[in-house]
Amino acid sequence: MALDVVVELSGGRHCFPQQIFSEGYRDLLAALFFMAVAKRAAEFGQAKVLMLDDVFQSVDSTVRGTAVEFLIREFRDWQLIFTVHDRLWFEQLRSKLRGGSMPFVEHELRSWDFANGPVLHNAPATLTTTLERELDLGEPASICGAAGRLLEQASDQLSWRVNISVKRRPGDRYTLGDLWPGINKVFRRTSLREISGAIQSTYELRNLAGAHYNEWANALSLLEAQGFGREVLAFVEAVWCPDCSDWVASDGKDAIQCPGGHVSISVQS
Ligand SMILES: [Zn+2]
Repeated sequence: MALDVVVELSGGRHCFPQQIFSEGYRDLLAALFFMAVAKRAAEFGQAKVLMLDDVFQSVDSTVRGTAVEFLIREFRDWQLIFTVHDRLWFEQLRSKLRGGSMPFVEHELRSWDFANGPVLHNAPATLTTTLERELDLGEPASICGAAGRLLEQASDQLSWRVNISVKRRPGDRYTLGDLWPGINKVFRRTSLREISGAIQSTYELRNLAGAHYNEWANALSLLEAQGFGREVLAFVEAVWCPDCSDWVASDGKDAIQCPGGHVSISVQS
């Protein structure tokens, strides 16, 4: 048996999905078709359980957000199981489920082997887990590596949320050195001026922008590395809202806050 999915265009013409859709959209279409079949099968007594094993991985992040909203709406009385690999997609999913008032539990699978099976953790890692663990147990190089990556991630996300100015680069690939000075310029006018200034001076002192994290960190004492790590941790904790699972953003006036208004940072003019 074979099945053809036919797309009807707004002009009335018909074509096959593979003629007009990208790979990501075809994956999405296949998932939606599968969900429609599952829904119909449930009317005939099939259990209302849907397991989605990283199905939206290839889809644009805005589209996959909408797909999750669709699932929450259409499959509200079902048990849905999502598995994801990507940390940001995980945060996005968590935020959508919260926003849609869908009760859920989170588990994290870490290592896996034939003898013992998967190792299950109840509380999955948050954005800051890696840095916190390195601060407790790590070497200077690994502390700086974790702190540098987290600060780069925060800077990347904050750069457009608080409207910093950056010099454009080919492919729009920016390093910490391109983004952080602009971020500091915004946050030094807020209650975070101290922590932002501390990161600015450590970062300038060590020429973090140009150096490979590990080379840079080898010359550091544990105390210096921990100092930098704690500064980054404090900054990220101040600009990331765990309730919204989202970063703060400028409201266009005199405040920088999270979407739900739990975290609010005032800006001095
Ligand atoms: Zn919030």
